[in-house]
Amino acid sequence: MKQKKKLLILGGGYAGVTLIHALKMKDFDITLVNQTPFHIVQTEIHRLLGGAAHEEDIYFDLEEFCEKKGVSFICDKAILINDKVQKVICEHGRELKYDYLVIATGALSLFPHQIENIHAYSKDIKVAQHLKNLENEFQSLLKSQEKEKNIAIIGGGLTGVEIALEYASRLKKLGISATQCSISLIEQFETLLPGSSKELILETHDACDKAGIKRYHGNFVTKIENNNIYLSNNSSIPFSMVIITIGVICEELHFQSEIQKSNKNQFIVDKHLQVKGFENIFAIGDVAYFETDEGSVLLPTAQNAKQQAKTLAKNLENIVKNKPTLEYKYKHKGTLVDLAKNEAVGDAFGVQFHGNSAYYLKRTVNAMHTRIFK
Ligand SMILES: Cc1cc2nc3c(=O)[nH]c(=O)nc-3n(C[C@H](O)[C@H](O)[C@H](O)COP(=O)(O)OP(=O)(O)OC[C@H]3O[C@@H](n4cnc5c(N)ncnc54)[C@H](O)[C@@H]3O)c2cc1C
Repeated sequence: MKQKKKLLILGGGYAGVTLIHALKMKDFDITLVNQTPFHIVQTEIHRLLGGAAHEEDIYFDLEEFCEKKGVSFICDKAILINDKVQKVICEHGRELKYDYLVIATGALSLFPHQIENIHAYSKDIKVAQHLKNLENEFQSLLKSQEKEKNIAIIGGGLTGVEIALEYASRLKKLGISATQCSISLIEQFETLLPGSSKELILETHDACDKAGIKRYHGNFVTKIENNNIYLSNNSSIPFSMVIITIGVICEELHFQSEIQKSNKNQFIVDKHLQVKGFENIFAIGDVAYFETDEGSVLLPTAQNAKQQAKTLAKNLENIVKNKPTLEYKYKHKGTLVDLAKNEAVGDAFGVQFHGNSAYYLKRTVNAMHTRIFK
């Protein structure tokens, strides 16, 4: 009998688990390596912080998932790819051999050193322990005697907006007024959701204003110190608790050979999702730097991670069958922004959605992802 090829997948996030779900198992002997025992549904993190979702909605057991799929699971952190001998070295000393390697290790929150003292406040919402710490901080804040409490969110992109609105809704449900505890949302560009459509921006501004969120636009943060956020116009915003959501960067994952990476430590992939210069190594999701035919770089989103995983599943099968591989083509299906209180706004498949219908559509998209664990 022909021996199955060893396929090693690093990272059990959106890209990694979608790839496993899409692959035909008979072609490969698959091992998934993830640094934690669970998959995190990151697109629901804001709802966990806001108390609208629970841990069981966010964390999914990877060992159980792999067992159902007939895949081996290793809970460890990959630290070095020795491409010369086709092995991955892990933090706990494991050496894992591969015929094909898929890097799907995602990204972490960005805490740029240009913001003075930022590292004292660098709780990453993508890390389970930090999410727990933020919840503890929120609970302590509720109990504290401080008079004018303020939760500050730095970064007015999708993540920051959704977190601010969920916290506002949570405080309201707890009967805490905006004077007792305010929420500040700070964005360096002139509007929230920079780069989005005018309608989406206006509707989001309106939702924030109605929720009593203080919006600060047009100045960047220069320093965070002694519970004050300093802005480039020399003003400052006092805070009791701060969350920073100003972008993402990939953690360094070393290669034995020289390798070209983006300025966010992403692996540069070609149209077939192959890491440039390495025939049997692929990268998908946030960790992959992919340039479209039009010259734009794909943003780190779950929808891109899942689409890339599906294309790569077909390509890996084609490779073992000596068939040509497909070029990856990203299809933007839309953007939905949660506005808390069972409301959302955005577009999907070219149609605008608002309020309740947008909210349920967003939950459906999420359920379509999590059903792969059932
Ligand atoms: C609050 C929030 C809301 C969002 N909302 C949306 C949305 O509405 N729509 C959308 O499309 N996108 C959204 N995103 C972005 C989306 O979540 C990411 O783009 C997506 O998670 C990327 O998937 P991935 O598989 O590339 O990486 P991840 O999901 O980050 O998974 C990477 C996995 O690799 C593991 N890992 C990392 N390094 C190693 C290592 N060295 N060894 C072993 N394992 C490792 C990690 O533990 C993790 O399990 C949101 C993100 C956040 C934080």
